Amino acid sequence: MIYKRSSALFDEAKKYIPGGVNSPVRAFNAVGGDPIFVKKAEGAYLYDEDDNKLIDYISSWGPMILGHAFPSVVDAVVKRTKLGTSYGIPTELETKIAKLAVEMVPNIDKIRFVNSGTEACMSAVRLARGYTGKDKIIKFAGCYHGHSDSFLIQAGSGAVTFGEPNSPGVTKGTAMDTLLAHYNDLESVKTLIQENHGDIACIIIEPVAGNMGCIVPEEGFLEGLRQLCDENNILLIFDEVMTGFRLAPGGVQELLGVRADIVTFGKVIGGGLPVGAFAGKSEIMNHLAPDGPVYQAGTLSGNPLAMAAGYAMLTELNTNRGIFERLDKKTKTLHQGMKKVLEDAGVVHRINRIGSMLSIHFCENPVTDFKSAAHGNNDKFKTYFHGMLDRGVYMPPSAFESYFLNDALSYEDIDHTIKALSEFVDELK
Ligand code: PMP
Repeated sequence: MIYKRSSALFDEAKKYIPGGVNSPVRAFNAVGGDPIFVKKAEGAYLYDEDDNKLIDYISSWGPMILGHAFPSVVDAVVKRTKLGTSYGIPTELETKIAKLAVEMVPNIDKIRFVNSGTEACMSAVRLARGYTGKDKIIKFAGCYHGHSDSFLIQAGSGAVTFGEPNSPGVTKGTAMDTLLAHYNDLESVKTLIQENHGDIACIIIEPVAGNMGCIVPEEGFLEGLRQLCDENNILLIFDEVMTGFRLAPGGVQELLGVRADIVTFGKVIGGGLPVGAFAGKSEIMNHLAPDGPVYQAGTLSGNPLAMAAGYAMLTELNTNRGIFERLDKKTKTLHQGMKKVLEDAGVVHRINRIGSMLSIHFCENPVTDFKSAAHGNNDKFKTYFHGMLDRGVYMPPSAFESYFLNDALSYEDIDHTIKALSEFVDELK
């Protein structure tokens, strides 16, 4: 495929935007080459500036679960736009989406909307600190909760890809309040709790991790965290920015039956517009301003266009619940097809999958945490990524990211993807 115009646009972008992009992973640093520039997207496909048509497996990193330019979502935004784009004054729409989210997600009474997943997680941690009166937090190596200072301690996603898990600019003081545990390792959490007895406000975790590839919690791990939190007066925060409204209508809480005290959302909840949210029981949420002392605010929070898109998206997911099973089946077909091609060719690999999230690592051992994810062979990953891209398939440009399938993908698209892999699989040996 030809990417001449995209490359020229990237050169121009680099003159005015740091690295030419507004979010680092987009720059292809982990896989090399120039990123594609998108002209438009529809259904399962991206159309780039060189008029290439690509099957999209990232779905804007999750939000476009129904496929691109889904009619009811687009219509809702267009209609709402004509009524004014921002007021900074309450609207009925905010209550409607809040009510729907509370109905769909277990264990939450109230929800506050913000503008990104980062803001949601940052605010959730402040609320946990304000509620418990304690300062320290536990996070897991390889989990990403946005780019707020407290979370850039061995974070996943682009922070890993760039080989700089601890970003300059995060103060030592902030870093001291973030304690690092290991995914799927309850003992590491117990040790931290013992060593910091009475000081820990919350444990924040991606209940299914998607920022070191896709990593599923082992049986008993989330339940063990729940128990440790209950025994030690610690709040459990599930970061469901990726998994919320994707793995099930009620996210991982519903799928795996473990209760969180605060849940954060992003991506799907905004229907492709900039939205995040955090939610919990009234007893906790009432600590937020203006009812309580924990301050949190936003000029564009609850923005009418964003709420219109989110409400249309959640309404679709709530009324057409078959989508979750359909996505699971499609992703399973992709998983099995890729596995067979790779196995037949004798390529060492691991594919992790749950529902419509999946990732591939070129390594021998099971990928269960950050350390094992980091063992993947990145040279092979680069070959894999570009081999697929050359054949019209857009996969995440880093092994530390998850695939997000969307409902517009057809089985023909999946067949095409598997066939594409078979064409160059020998290069991965
Ligand atoms: N939490 C998780 C689990 C995420 O995957 C992300 C973003 N990929 C975030 C938080 C941050 O969200 P945003 O990029 O919208 O700030």
